[in-house]
Amino acid sequence: MVRILIVSVTAGLMLVAGYQRVNAADRPASIVERCWTPDQRAPGKTEHMTLRRRVQVDKGALRARTPSPARAVPEGLRGSIRRVELPAGKKLVALTFDLCETPYSIAGYDGGIVDFLREHEVRATFFASGKWLETHGERAQQLIADPNFEVGNHGLEHRDFRRVRGAGLTEEIALAQAAYERGREQLMAHACLVSPPGTKTPAVPRAMTLFRFPYGTCDAAALKAVADQGLLAIQWDVVTGDPERGRSARAIAATVLSRVKPGSIVIAHANGRGWNTAAALPLILPKLKAQGYEFVTVGELLAAGKPVVAKSCYQLHPGDNRNLHSATLAKQKPESSADSDQRALLHYPD
Ligand SMILES: [Zn+2]
Repeated sequence: MVRILIVSVTAGLMLVAGYQRVNAADRPASIVERCWTPDQRAPGKTEHMTLRRRVQVDKGALRARTPSPARAVPEGLRGSIRRVELPAGKKLVALTFDLCETPYSIAGYDGGIVDFLREHEVRATFFASGKWLETHGERAQQLIADPNFEVGNHGLEHRDFRRVRGAGLTEEIALAQAAYERGREQLMAHACLVSPPGTKTPAVPRAMTLFRFPYGTCDAAALKAVADQGLLAIQWDVVTGDPERGRSARAIAATVLSRVKPGSIVIAHANGRGWNTAAALPLILPKLKAQGYEFVTVGELLAAGKPVVAKSCYQLHPGDNRNLHSATLAKQKPESSADSDQRALLHYPD
């Protein structure tokens, strides 16, 4: 009797949510399932935590690589993309998760987020610092390999792009591209991906085509540098505010649910600094799905409509980050109390 009650309550809840776990046995194994066992995919207990350890990226090895040729970005897209205007009736939304990593620490990997997205086959985009890709080799390959995920460039070492110039600016973008391509190369060399003769090698994008400015800051030179390297600069129109420590899953969910509209781009974090993001996803995704929304990658969203392009970078309104803790960012030390105060105040994404 008790058991029947539990079963019916559970079934009822799932019905209300309109949202069930996808049965992986119903479709062919993805590259991720072919290459890693469930244990290897499962997150470690402390893997979401940031390690305060300074690690140098091997820039020499990245510089030595020949970059993939970049396609020119058309004039109308050489700004920062906020959202996408969609044809009437189309309800698409792009969830994005930043994997920020500075020179001062090794950021985490929030497996709770990744696992939830995988379980429910939710498509999403991750913007990774090149350094994050380098320090999380296996995880980076798992994300690059996942057909439901898209990986974009988040700078090499998460610099404030208003403060890097010349070769430094070019390399912040180019060496992150090289880090992705190196990770992809290692992935494609896995025995699990070597296809038998006569069968197709799985399609994994050769290079990243999207870029997200660290701290959400840019200027004209930075926008030009990104576009010159063939990348589209992607911002957002919905800020979860998830790097704010006290921000609950319920508060994150309330913000997202009240602000999302068709064509929205939502910013969150999967480097362990989105404190309650993993707990917020089950509160957000079933409701959006029940409202008829479909989750797509940013690349798919862009292809489905007309991108809304701004001439500058900002949080929610033009100019709202112009003076954003520039003194703190100048030192490139994102852990000071002044910095976190500012983040809390402005729901600062990093
Ligand atoms: Zn970031």
